[in-house]
Amino acid sequence: MTDTTYNKIIIAIDGFSSSGKSTMARSLAAKIGYRYIDSGAMYRAVTLYAMRHGMISEEGIADARTLISALPQISVDFKVMPDGSQHTLLCGEDVETAIRKLDVSSNVSQVAAIPEIRHALVAMQQAMGKEKGIVMDGRDIGTTVFPDAELKIFVDASAQTRAQRRFTEMLAKGAEVNFEDILANVVHRDHIDQTREESPLRCADDALHLDNSTLTPEEQDNWLMERFKATIAHTSVK
Ligand code: C5P
Repeated sequence: MTDTTYNKIIIAIDGFSSSGKSTMARSLAAKIGYRYIDSGAMYRAVTLYAMRHGMISEEGIADARTLISALPQISVDFKVMPDGSQHTLLCGEDVETAIRKLDVSSNVSQVAAIPEIRHALVAMQQAMGKEKGIVMDGRDIGTTVFPDAELKIFVDASAQTRAQRRFTEMLAKGAEVNFEDILANVVHRDHIDQTREESPLRCADDALHLDNSTLTPEEQDNWLMERFKATIAHTSVK
């Protein structure tokens, strides 16, 4: 389905860590010819920058002020690869593999809780959605980045289920990981994301709630496609 004659809308997909939201967002975007943006990758790239520049210690973010003042020098972009996948670029360097590692996962939620970092990335995300025709996933897309998005989804599943998915995914990529570490990281990130002051993770009042614990990826894709078609049928924006 690549017909782009219908009205373009914004699709916001939020949810907990490793809830499968990126997979469903990417899959829908490819089918309907929309741009897909993984907003979590942007926070991960900024975190990698901070780690490489010694701004994060064992105890966590040591130097938020320096990171905030470095923001004008940090560029985050996306590159579409020949196989259709999307890689994250940090100041032009392909960091797709590095940002998915557990060390970045362990620090990212602290970086993402810094209001100035959020303001800068939210502004970039809003600019990306100016022309609509975008599927963006994250934690605050339906509440803060695009509060007027025509279709909002909030994805959830048990922490155990989500950690198991992430574990399987990382093993398949050849990473040396243990399940308990992944589960602890998922629970820890959820906690920071839900309790931070600046745009905490929560389900927007007008979002559709999806618990995908027992759904196959195909069932999940079909569910989302139906919601998309129904939204388009009732949307009169250009
Ligand atoms: O989506 P992903 O798990 O890769 O996101 C990594 C982290 O980035 C999240 O745990 C959260 O702390 C942060 N994030 C955020 N707001 C978003 C997207 C991600 O705070 N819109």
